[in-house]
Amino acid sequence: MEFALQQAVDRLPPGDLTRADKEQSLSNLRAGVSGEKRIFETVCSVMLPDGVVLIQNLALPLLGGMQFQMDLVIVAKSGILLIESKQIAGRLRFHPVPAELRKVDENGEIQIVYDCPLAQLADQKENLLQWLRMEGYRVPVLGAVVFANNPIIEEIGQDAPVYKIREVRNLVRRHLERKSVINDEDVMAISETMREHAQSYLPFPLQHPNRSAYFTGPICRHCRKPLKKQSKRTWYCDICLLSDGDPYLVTLLAWFILIRKTISPREVMNLFDLKAHKSVRNLMMQLPFEKIGSGKTIGYQADYALLVNTEAVIQLIGEWLASEE
Ligand SMILES: [Zn+2]
Repeated sequence: MEFALQQAVDRLPPGDLTRADKEQSLSNLRAGVSGEKRIFETVCSVMLPDGVVLIQNLALPLLGGMQFQMDLVIVAKSGILLIESKQIAGRLRFHPVPAELRKVDENGEIQIVYDCPLAQLADQKENLLQWLRMEGYRVPVLGAVVFANNPIIEEIGQDAPVYKIREVRNLVRRHLERKSVINDEDVMAISETMREHAQSYLPFPLQHPNRSAYFTGPICRHCRKPLKKQSKRTWYCDICLLSDGDPYLVTLLAWFILIRKTISPREVMNLFDLKAHKSVRNLMMQLPFEKIGSGKTIGYQADYALLVNTEAVIQLIGEWLASEE
């Protein structure tokens, strides 16, 4: 996901209105990931008894092809505890109607308005209860919003399940001390079913009002400016004075993330200034793309869930993120 947003930022022209938005999403996403990690580590530092299962970052299917995503799910004999993690600093006010989280400055002026984490949590709880019912389980679900940092919470409803990270160990301990409502076998069965049904949370291609704003050709892995074709295989950056022998797969991934789920051989040829269909076929063979159509309408389609689990893709994305200046 981070790779996806970064590609979106890198490939939009500086004047694009949505670029600032994407940059903000990217920095929020990074903060969010580090917050989730900190909360997970804190929960792990509690002496968890046998028969407690933690599942991080779980997306489960709902009816009609929908899915819902949860940050941390704790399955125990005392029931399921959902943790929605947040990383927002400053002075915060939970506003009940409309449900939103407002960040204010010292004078109480609203600076930013966020979706209300309590409303998100309530939604996840309902979705999880529905999923459990569909799978034939009856088990209570409790939830908590946990801030990975220590914001100043100025206004909040009484008994709202909102905690700061230093309270999270006690929150988990108290949950585990509650009366058992299911047995060890149920805990195992529920958590195994969750893992079996887990979906990748992949909102691709990313929404953009004007996809043609993206630069789709190969870009430099250092300065992110367009590369020029130097020879049959090699590409060159005028600014870094470096050549790149293999910008192909990263460029294709960016296409599937930003533009669309499919690509035609003609489009591949245009992207890389290729002359022969054979080169397209050789290139597309390197990753598990699905061939669609036949004869003249042939094209390639990305299966996002398959791609993110492909070793070569994981490696490419890792290298790309590591090369960031
Ligand atoms: Zn460069």
